[in-house]
Amino acid sequence: MSHTPELIDIGVNLGDKQFNRDRDEVVERAVEAGIKRMILTGTCQASSEQVLELCQQYSPWCYSTAGIHPHDASTATPEVLKSIRGLLNEDKVVAVGETGLDFNRNFSTPKEQEAAFLAQLEMAAETGLPLFCHERDAADRMHETLKAHRDDISNAVIHCFTADRDALFRYLDLDLYIGITGWVCDERRGTHLWPLLNNIPANRLMIETDAPWLLPRTLEKKPKNRRNEPAFLSEVVNMISVQTGKPAELIAQETTANACTFFRLPAG
Ligand SMILES: [Zn+2]
Repeated sequence: MSHTPELIDIGVNLGDKQFNRDRDEVVERAVEAGIKRMILTGTCQASSEQVLELCQQYSPWCYSTAGIHPHDASTATPEVLKSIRGLLNEDKVVAVGETGLDFNRNFSTPKEQEAAFLAQLEMAAETGLPLFCHERDAADRMHETLKAHRDDISNAVIHCFTADRDALFRYLDLDLYIGITGWVCDERRGTHLWPLLNNIPANRLMIETDAPWLLPRTLEKKPKNRRNEPAFLSEVVNMISVQTGKPAELIAQETTANACTFFRLPAG
């Protein structure tokens, strides 16, 4: 590549305590690596407030989401939901979420998860903001729920897509966006995604690190602490390029354009 392409990381958990000691440097390294915008993920009331503060601190690079992760669904009292709804009025908050369903570990009960998800679907409908969705081992229910509300919401992304072909096609039938993380760089559990990448339309693909999680296994020099950070986003681009035969530069351009459209980011 002749120059560093501009990338947008649509999923950074920059509020995580793993970044407490060197958050400034992490953002600096990201910007140097061409990650010119980062969407910081809010996962509960406290983290949604925290990432919004980080957006102000790291302006103009950062925007954020506000929502309740399915793991935190048990915290979604009416007061908490009200405060999330308030955050959605902030300029830097560009999506509702992280929300969705995770029947893998059920840290909150499926019932609590569905209630919190429905409340956030309603917020997305009311505000016109897109949804940032998490789904693990819940593709059927997720699809059903999104299908029932599809006409009410502007857009949704299935972030960190790791499911199968059937789930992918059903999400695409709902005209949803698909977020691909470093899961795709994992030769042990990510190879099922490789043949699917060519099935994601160029105008529906977005990329993310989900940092500090999911350190790409393709990274040549892995940090000792195994912590992922947005500066490593190009690993995801490169793997998509290898698997699809599409130039990395083009993937960078397309995914950046998609993220600008999806999150309605100001140009430039
Ligand atoms: Zn997630």
